[in-house]
Amino acid sequence: MLTPERALRRILAAAADLTPLPCERTPLAGALGRALADDLRATGDLPAFDAATMDGYAFRAADVRAPGARLPVAFEVFAGASPPGPLPAGECCRIYTGAALPEGADAVEMQERVRRSGRLARFEREGERGRFVRARASEFSGGAVAVPAGTLLDPGTLGLVAALGHGEVAVVRRPRVAILPTGDELVPFGAPLGPGKIYESNSHALAAAVVEAGGEPVLLPVARDDARALARGLDAARGCDVLVTNGGVSVGARDLVRAALEEAGAETSFWRVAMRPGKPFTFGRWGRALTFGLPGNPASALVTFELFARPAIRALGGLRGHGRISAHATLAIAQEKPAELEVYLRVRLKVGDDGLVAEPLRTQLSGHLTSAAGHDALAVLPAGVEKLPRGARVAVRILRAPEV
Ligand code: AMP
Ligand code: MG
Repeated sequence: MLTPERALRRILAAAADLTPLPCERTPLAGALGRALADDLRATGDLPAFDAATMDGYAFRAADVRAPGARLPVAFEVFAGASPPGPLPAGECCRIYTGAALPEGADAVEMQERVRRSGRLARFEREGERGRFVRARASEFSGGAVAVPAGTLLDPGTLGLVAALGHGEVAVVRRPRVAILPTGDELVPFGAPLGPGKIYESNSHALAAAVVEAGGEPVLLPVARDDARALARGLDAARGCDVLVTNGGVSVGARDLVRAALEEAGAETSFWRVAMRPGKPFTFGRWGRALTFGLPGNPASALVTFELFARPAIRALGGLRGHGRISAHATLAIAQEKPAELEVYLRVRLKVGDDGLVAEPLRTQLSGHLTSAAGHDALAVLPAGVEKLPRGARVAVRILRAPEV
């Protein structure tokens, strides 16, 4: 059986084969969290002109050699206005934050350090070239690459893109991720629950996880546990970049997903990973698509998605890594586990005086919905260990900031 680490390596190698997905253009409002597809160049200098960074007075530094210098105020320049002309020699001008320096001025003094009487401004200290001036082209010269391809578009970067005059950007297309729930017991909500039936719920959890991974979920209706229904379900997934099936990959008589995938032409890369939850996980290639066969228990589905599907979807979308932070935490409760499996505990994190504390959710039974809801992190209990005492240091993969 593969270790989770080796399983992930196989998956990322397969994903690397398919990257990058083609790019598309999007308005900035749709670009958050996506990867820039092409280098973005500065159309002109940024900033485009020398600007004051303080409300005060602009002048030539050479005219204020010593504290106490007095200069007549020639004119006033507001932000957004064009200076009426060059600064006359030996004079200064009133200026405000963001306003363009008149030609000739090379320094600004803040108004708090200037005493004004009538037409004269008296400077408390000597002038210094460049003080309180945001110089033209100090960020980028026109034509330079300002944001390289592959950059993650975060709020600040989107601001930079907009400042460069672009209202749209080329981004890597979001991977389309088909989600196929399988199981005779599953009923969509809204439909009556007959005996032995449960609401189909995992596809909604997985669709949310797909969105978090930067993908575009495509929810398919439940496929029943028979070969023909599964074949129809798989047919509906054709054309997607990723197929996530859920359920039916274990060893039961009606666990038919692996056979159905192969029947449809997919190639199994591996089946089963030495982990809990999620051992029956299977992965493969289906033409240009990757297939992730997630086990049906809610926690198994979400943990295997997090470990295996999320980094692959991100890679297809041009994003690097799994996008999570790992840290260490102390276990709040002793744990026992099978030595041969790596265990992923769903935990809440507390920020204590001695660092993070990992408090396992009350139930860790992978079939319990509440074992996969409301956790901040996955605590990794390594293979080769059977017991971890309370207070043991464990690695945690942080999924979200703890609620305080
Ligand atoms: P399986 O992996 O098909 O053996 O399913 C394991 C458990 O997960 C069973 O109790 C299923 O009823 C449950 N299960 C499978 N798929 C879903 C789903 N989409 N939503 C909710 N529960 C599911
Ligand atoms: Mg099933």
